[in-house]
Amino acid sequence: MSPNSAKPKERLKNTAATHRARKRCSWPESELALAYHDREWGVPLKDDRKLFEFLVLDAMQAGLSWEIILRKREGFRAAFDDFDPVKIAAYGPEKIKALLADPGIVRNRLKIESSVSNARAFLAVQKEFGSFANYIWQFVGGKPLVNRRRHHKQIPPRSKESDAMSKALKKRGFRFVGSTICYAFMQAAGMVNDHLTACFRHPELVKSMSRWRIRHSELE
Ligand SMILES: [Zn+2]
Repeated sequence: MSPNSAKPKERLKNTAATHRARKRCSWPESELALAYHDREWGVPLKDDRKLFEFLVLDAMQAGLSWEIILRKREGFRAAFDDFDPVKIAAYGPEKIKALLADPGIVRNRLKIESSVSNARAFLAVQKEFGSFANYIWQFVGGKPLVNRRRHHKQIPPRSKESDAMSKALKKRGFRFVGSTICYAFMQAAGMVNDHLTACFRHPELVKSMSRWRIRHSELE
């Protein structure tokens, strides 16, 4: 979710040679990252459970590489009840203690506790707006913002939209939602298309999403 942290120099060679024939963004390094880039990153999401998953994973990433998070994703799924915000919102001290002892996830007390309070804030948003998707897509006007970046260096760590999203989420009690984390979330959830123009996914997403939008009435 945060390709901005990718270091081209550290790119592994000779992995996924067969996939590499296609032109794509420069940040995916492992098989796992390639699959994630090709199938998930930048695909517009309306599904609240999936949006919550990205909210949790992007917060967990803070200070770490996305590769680490991808490797632990199944561990998170198992430990966090498949990212069910209703279940997570009800986690008490015993469950948090168990999570802190789970090597399959990122064992950081602040991050784990924030996922619980974020689940509660998430449920409050769902209640108020009908769905979290309705709420979150407002920050880009209900449809994906298509960027046309040619170089990885042109991708910013944040935007005015992510600044607004961060401010609004913080006001609602969310934690680990700084603008950089929000921007990574926007990229992952397809609120922005930040695939490079030379990447095969850029035109694919533009084409398949030409009629995609959260209906205006859903945003009211
Ligand atoms: Zn790409």
